[in-house]
Amino acid sequence: MLEKHADAKTTQPRAIPAQCDVVVIGGGPAGSAAATYLAQEGIDVVLLEKEQFPRPQVGESLIPHFWKFADRLGVSDQIKRENFVVKSGGIIAWKEKVYQLSFASFGYGDRPGLHVERDTFDDILLRHAVASGARVYEEVVVRKVIFRDGRRPVIAYADRRRDGFSRGEISCRYVIDASGYTAVLARQFNSRRVVTSDTKYLGLWGYYKDSLYLGGDRQSHPITAVHDTPPVTFISSFEDGWIWHIILRHRASVGLIINTDRIKGMGKADQEAYFRATCAQTPILQKLLEPAVFIEGSMGFRPDYSYYNDKVAGENFISIGDAAGFVDPIFSQGVQAALYNATMAAWAVKSSLARESQRARYFRMAANQISQFYSFARLMALGHFGQAGIDADKVKALMAGFPANELDLALVAAMTTDRSQYLHRIATDAGMAEKVDREFAGDRLLALDELEI
Ligand SMILES: Cc1cc2nc3c(=O)[nH]c(=O)nc-3n(C[C@H](O)[C@H](O)[C@H](O)COP(=O)(O)OP(=O)(O)OC[C@H]3O[C@@H](n4cnc5c(N)ncnc54)[C@H](O)[C@@H]3O)c2cc1C
Repeated sequence: MLEKHADAKTTQPRAIPAQCDVVVIGGGPAGSAAATYLAQEGIDVVLLEKEQFPRPQVGESLIPHFWKFADRLGVSDQIKRENFVVKSGGIIAWKEKVYQLSFASFGYGDRPGLHVERDTFDDILLRHAVASGARVYEEVVVRKVIFRDGRRPVIAYADRRRDGFSRGEISCRYVIDASGYTAVLARQFNSRRVVTSDTKYLGLWGYYKDSLYLGGDRQSHPITAVHDTPPVTFISSFEDGWIWHIILRHRASVGLIINTDRIKGMGKADQEAYFRATCAQTPILQKLLEPAVFIEGSMGFRPDYSYYNDKVAGENFISIGDAAGFVDPIFSQGVQAALYNATMAAWAVKSSLARESQRARYFRMAANQISQFYSFARLMALGHFGQAGIDADKVKALMAGFPANELDLALVAAMTTDRSQYLHRIATDAGMAEKVDREFAGDRLLALDELEI
């Protein structure tokens, strides 16, 4: 049973206003963060969210970078109070090699990664937007955005709140599309570009009760020890793609990223049978799941596992988070990207409200930063076919601006798979040759002869 977060300020204003300064579409991490930033500046912001929160969401592994955004939003204390599972790093078994990476070696000892139940985590962020002054309406679905030259954008919505169903419109000065995979604006503009290659991937995941987990000590532990011996996120390649195991407080999230062809033509039951058989056969994972029970009905599915958006922003709109791009989640960058994008969008909107004559420039600059980030993430996670739509010079500029430990962690993490050759080439071209040398990783990347649990 999902319950609203204890801190929640659940009262929603009844009537949706006919106008406001900014409409945010979607209340995931990207939308909640953007709405919070703007509301904290005293800007009149309305957020429309399709679901009633808390709502389920995949993507439970958070890398430590998210804390700096949580601090900026003023939500770190609420997150800490929730007592999510703290993770120490990752163990990656990739094609005959096994690596261990610990966040503490990169200066993140007191700001570790987390494994979070996303329904709860996202709910904390959304309630924080409400507490910051954003007007949030759940169960309101945005149908489309009407742009007329020189006029305010109009957002057409369907209000599905409990006491009925009605349609309405709200006009605003700026729209932030944070609708995730739905990508309301990108679909409306037909600007979503799926990264294709010989191998096209999809995500398939489910949840297990009573799974063991892999600790930072490289031993398996029962889930009851999860707050005593911090886990790692376990990643393993296998013949059809790669697999994750993320231990949460009461269950384990397990997922496959596989070649689309592998389950072509399969119905739901066959997909689940394939998923469960794969989990039962993959070394290490198999042992972690030995005492575990699959939670019936918990299967999730996501096609188009990587895409980007050719039209991230215009003069009065911007897309952020999964609405702007999505990258293979192997390095757990999705939530970080959403929070980073939100910062950029809020900056562009705030600056444009203050100086409207410059708005095209502000939105262009924010879109540029957002696209750079996804280009970097694609290069890191996808290897050669991650190059679609990237501008190498912009990626270099972005990397040069990263804090040193973030860049180090990214480049060292990329060494754990065989997909980083283009990222490393760009880093070398940018004068960071020493950083892509295995010597540079030093004892921050432990190569294990074998992993036995
Ligand atoms: C298989 C898989 C594994 C992943 N693993 C990780 C991971 O380990 N770590 C990580 O950091 N990231 C991971 N991600 C990515 C991460 O989940 C996303 O990047 C993140 O949720 C993006 O946040 P967002 O706010 O952009 O979108 P979302 O979280 O999807 O939020 C969008 C919101 O918009 C709402 N919405 C949609 N359409 C409308 C509409 N028309 N009107 C109103 N509201 C609407 C939705 O209901 C939703 O609440 C993973 C993703 C997948 C698919």
